[in-house]
Amino acid sequence: MTTTSPVGRQLRPRGKLLQEDTRRHHRSLLLQQLFREGPASRADLARTTGLTRVTVSDLVGELVTTGLVEELGAPAGSRVGKPPTLVGLAADSVHVVGLDLSADDRMTGAVLNLLGEVQARHEVAVGGARGADAVDLVRGLAAELIARTDRPVLGVGVGSPGVVGADGTVIDAPNLGWHDTPLSTVLAEALGCPVTVANDANTAVLGEHTFGAAGDGGLMLLRVGTGVGAGLVLEGSLLHGHRGAAGEIGHVVVDPGGDRCACGRTGCLETVLAAPHLRRRLAAEPADGDVLARAGEQLGTVLAPVVGTLNLREVVLSGPADLLDGPLRAAADRVVRERTMPVSSEDLVVRTSALGEDVVLVGAAVLVLTGQLGVS
Ligand SMILES: [Zn+2]
Repeated sequence: MTTTSPVGRQLRPRGKLLQEDTRRHHRSLLLQQLFREGPASRADLARTTGLTRVTVSDLVGELVTTGLVEELGAPAGSRVGKPPTLVGLAADSVHVVGLDLSADDRMTGAVLNLLGEVQARHEVAVGGARGADAVDLVRGLAAELIARTDRPVLGVGVGSPGVVGADGTVIDAPNLGWHDTPLSTVLAEALGCPVTVANDANTAVLGEHTFGAAGDGGLMLLRVGTGVGAGLVLEGSLLHGHRGAAGEIGHVVVDPGGDRCACGRTGCLETVLAAPHLRRRLAAEPADGDVLARAGEQLGTVLAPVVGTLNLREVVLSGPADLLDGPLRAAADRVVRERTMPVSSEDLVVRTSALGEDVVLVGAAVLVLTGQLGVS
């Protein structure tokens, strides 16, 4: 078994803790410390979490018994006195299943360990399945992945297209024919383990935040695929918005005289930036290298007021690298800087995701790790 190295930044817990949750909360504090900072002695854990030595010893004992935490012996090089015993997360003690439903032609999934490392993969073709048939596909994909690990499965995380409620109900995902579909409830009953469902862009930004290359400061991840959506982590929390639709930047109108959008209006950012639209324009104007740069300029125009308002540290573009990581990214980066004050843009980074196409899968694992262990 390997143990964890330092990863990621903490998401601030939301909501008040009930008294009966105290032990669970203390357990999460310990796990979060080991998850973020790597192995530590019991004394170090007491100091960094503010818990008493007795509480730490008690909880570490319980975690060692369950296998989530393992004794690592003394640190190398300690010579004076009785060296402290280090404990660390056992990265492969349990596994997590992550599913990415954001592509229009296939559903992909993976088994991941506590470090967000992929252990096994599987995918199924959508083949036009909608409604209950599409739910069946998801259930079959999850069951296949659960069967591919010999470790206990902590839970299943799902990044779904569309608007997803806090209870894991998919409120509206037109491409899959889901309307008020209680996806997490149905899957949890069928699979017999906890299931967490979130919007794919929100899932992706959690993946980038916890296991990607995100630094401190506000992070916006823009997903570009069949559609365009975004997820934001601000001051340590995922931004939900008044009706859970924060990040729906794809349907901001940027070209009122432009193309018809899937939402029924004309000239949304999605009609400029979504992969099918970009590929169609590139095919129509093969000699014109400006197609991608023009799209990048329009993206920059939309991003500038967001960057100026939120003082973001990073804007991450996630999607087909051949479209995004070149003239498009460069033009968006330039226009944002032209249109914002230096205080907004000097430290700003506009880049592509370090996790590539796995960002939703990894984020789906984060949904489970946060929900079940309180780590992020
Ligand atoms: Zn639209």
